[in-house]
Amino acid sequence: MTEAAIRLSGIHKSFGAHHVLRGIDLQARNGEVISIIGGSGSGKSTLLRCVPLLEQPDSGQIAVGDDSISLGEPGQRLTGRDRQAMRRLRSQLGFVFQNFNLWPHMTALQNVMELPLHVQKRPRAECREEAEALLERVGLTARRDAWPSQLSGGQQQRVAIARALAVRPRALLFDEPTSALDPELVGEVLTVIRALAEEGRTMVLVTHEMGFARHVSHRAIYLHDGRIEEEGPPEQVFDNPLSERCRRFVSHHL
Ligand code: ADP
Ligand code: MG
Repeated sequence: MTEAAIRLSGIHKSFGAHHVLRGIDLQARNGEVISIIGGSGSGKSTLLRCVPLLEQPDSGQIAVGDDSISLGEPGQRLTGRDRQAMRRLRSQLGFVFQNFNLWPHMTALQNVMELPLHVQKRPRAECREEAEALLERVGLTARRDAWPSQLSGGQQQRVAIARALAVRPRALLFDEPTSALDPELVGEVLTVIRALAEEGRTMVLVTHEMGFARHVSHRAIYLHDGRIEEEGPPEQVFDNPLSERCRRFVSHHL
């Protein structure tokens, strides 16, 4: 856990007059698991979406491994060099969304194979073999030819995790991966995420599952109004935060 896998500095983002991210500095070291907590509207999703530039910050720097982009002003047009960096940066990240976002017209196996095959342009046989192994990992070998609509929410989210892993990412980003699930399906998804944390994956996880976050993360961050208000080891942030607001937030959600 030495080298930084992800580095964000001075990230600002507004939507119209609404200043949503107000200067975020955040680094994830290789192998580090960081959880981000905070109230609804505090900017958690926007922050996570800025890392792969699904949302373009108005200013600040983003680096993933050796690829970096600097933004200087709102609405700045990306140069050709920026776009190349963005593609490389994005291809090093696996993203898992709240609502799974599987491609509905592809089977589970096709969903997992799509990016390695058509974006990374790796050999089909290799993509297929790896996708099958990933589906086995998330316990879905028997469902590999099912359409997303034939799968439960928990199964869809496990396919989405396999899909995120299929690009061989340097880091995984999870945005409330269990909050769209029926309560009885949450456990099967958390089990998969816990196993990934235990094998030393770099992960940034936005979640309302406080007990889980405290257990798996090396560091926790409490976001309020687009700023990092509390940051530290989970024992601090969840059990003994410096910020009174963080303390209230955590005690409501435990
Ligand atoms: P969180 O994930 O912590 O609930 P979000 O990052 O989704 O918060 O949103 C932070 C704020 O930014 C909210 O007030 C939300 O309405 C606003 N916001 C998010 N995305 C957009 C967008 N695409 N256009 C306009 N406002 C947005
Ligand atoms: Mg959100």
